[in-house]
Amino acid sequence: MYTLGDLVQMKKQHACGTNRFEVVRLGMDIRIKCMGCGHAVLLPRREFEKKLKKKLVLADQVVAADEPYYQTLQKGPNQTNF
Ligand SMILES: [Zn+2]
Repeated sequence: MYTLGDLVQMKKQHACGTNRFEVVRLGMDIRIKCMGCGHAVLLPRREFEKKLKKKLVLADQVVAADEPYYQTLQKGPNQTNF
């Protein structure tokens, strides 16, 4: 289960050396955004699940102020789970 705004770690780090990505779109394809450089990547869901290592921070626990590239707005306790 993933929620928009979750921070995840992939099996392979991004080219910039950071391995912390924000889930910015959920659907047939999943878009993740590198928290080191802001670069976004679109992956088919199956590939995302294959490349995912673990979930780092749940969306409602992200401190957006510490993540300059974080874009998902905090939606409070009623945010939609996918
Ligand atoms: Zn990066």
